[in-house]
Amino acid sequence: MKPVLFDFTDSQLADFITSMGQPKFRAKQIRDWLNRGAPDFQVMKNLPAALRDQLDGVAQTLPVRVVKKLQSGDNQTTKFLLELGDAEQIECVLMRTSYGNSVCVSSQAGCAMGCKFCASTLLGLKRNLTVNEIYSQILVAQWELRGDRFSDRPIRPNGDANNGDVSHIVVMGTGEPLQNTENVIGFIERANSDMGIGWRKITVSTCGIVPGIEKLTEWGRPINLAISLHAPTDELRSRIMPINNKYHLNNVLDAAFKFSDLHNRQLMIEYILLAVRGENGDAELLNCTPEYAEKLSDLLRGKNCMVNLIPWNAVDERDFMSPSGNAVHRFQDILIKNGIHTRIRRERGQDIGSACGQLRLNNKGKVN
Ligand code: SAH
Repeated sequence: MKPVLFDFTDSQLADFITSMGQPKFRAKQIRDWLNRGAPDFQVMKNLPAALRDQLDGVAQTLPVRVVKKLQSGDNQTTKFLLELGDAEQIECVLMRTSYGNSVCVSSQAGCAMGCKFCASTLLGLKRNLTVNEIYSQILVAQWELRGDRFSDRPIRPNGDANNGDVSHIVVMGTGEPLQNTENVIGFIERANSDMGIGWRKITVSTCGIVPGIEKLTEWGRPINLAISLHAPTDELRSRIMPINNKYHLNNVLDAAFKFSDLHNRQLMIEYILLAVRGENGDAELLNCTPEYAEKLSDLLRGKNCMVNLIPWNAVDERDFMSPSGNAVHRFQDILIKNGIHTRIRRERGQDIGSACGQLRLNNKGKVN
């Protein structure tokens, strides 16, 4: 595999460039391009053409390479299929929204968690991503937004959506971030210091790894935490999320509220609405009956949280159904009646398989 210049320190980069017989200032020029997410050397217009060709032959810019780019019908969502140095593949998604440009990044290649409704875990876990592999995903998105159109402003983006920069990050791609906590923290620190993205514009979502949540609390940055809850009882939750056998629901919520209360932040609760096919082929509600709405309300009453309802997104290999619009609203109405803040998540990019739970390891599956 070719050396990845983005992974080099400044002095390593200078050595590399001077060993090619080039003056040192070229290293600085190249670094500027790397920090903007340059996908290859040909885009580096201020380098001589011969050097660009030479570099393309011996090195690569980022530790990820875009192998496929899919644009949603409304052009607001872009999904990237990325290849890593060892040929593993991951996905990341850029969403242009009314509040800014949000990037959904993956923290692992594959996932070990085995949630019954999700595509990401179908092939198991391949490996953790490095800090640079996670960070490169926002550079890919930044390049998509701005490319080389930087001449009129400083090279360092400042997390300003009005300027067309990445402004928000959600760690909700493939993988369980709190099984790779150290690198996820390293990535967030870097996104904050190098891209200027505020702590409060960054959200980490977890299926509920209690020691990982405690590590975030210790770390002490006021980011947003989201918990994939999906069921209000241990019995049902363990059926659809095996991790619940290890970390029970109440322990997960205790650890999560400790984190969010410390920062005076609202805890985000993610709740997929799942149905199963009944005997006559109709959708039979699984976790979103009125009874479960009452149980969920009992669990969360008086707590500082927001329930994000996510009607299940189709995954071919999974045998669930999405409940009817009526059932979704009935469930939400009960939460509202009980004083629980709630919202129905607007899914983005379903037509390109980039909605929640549709991200997967590679493009060999049917969804892509
Ligand atoms: N492993 C982390 C990060 C994934 S975030 C976590 O579990 O939180 C992606 C969110 O989408 C999670 O809440 C996940 O439970 C949810 N999800 C998974 N499959 C889904 C599907 N098919 N439809 C809707 N949401 C899904």
